[in-house]
Amino acid sequence: MDCLFCKIVAGQIPSTKVYEDEYIYAFEDINPEAPVHVVIIPKEHIASIKELKEEHKALIGHIHYMANVIAKEKGIYDDGFRIVSNTGEKAGQTVFHLHFHLLGGREFRWPPG
Ligand code: 5GP
Ligand code: ZN
Repeated sequence: MDCLFCKIVAGQIPSTKVYEDEYIYAFEDINPEAPVHVVIIPKEHIASIKELKEEHKALIGHIHYMANVIAKEKGIYDDGFRIVSNTGEKAGQTVFHLHFHLLGGREFRWPPG
């Protein structure tokens, strides 16, 4: 399958690893939007939140739990951080392999643009 993030998981495209286990992979975003910008993805190819099935519920919980752990390791836990999953083109999704942005290290505005 011609998927950028599947290639990153397979090591065919280099990335800076932040965390990895049997189910998920986290790496530094190539174009960071904040001092800390980590992308967390399931190893399984799922195109977006829209393709989630009942069987993925634990996986999504695991990703959020590990985002919390990574936020602590990256020193953004106390000041606050943002977890974002752009879903669909109009929402800004450019890579159609489910991913969660973990952003921190600066102040964020609300509502987002
Ligand atoms: P999206 O726009 O789909 O929400 O997020 C895709 C993210 O993947 C963007 O923040 C973009 O900078 C990042 N990205 C795209 N290509 C690469 C790459 O080859 N390596 C890494 N590390 N990040 C990438
Ligand atoms: Zn993929």
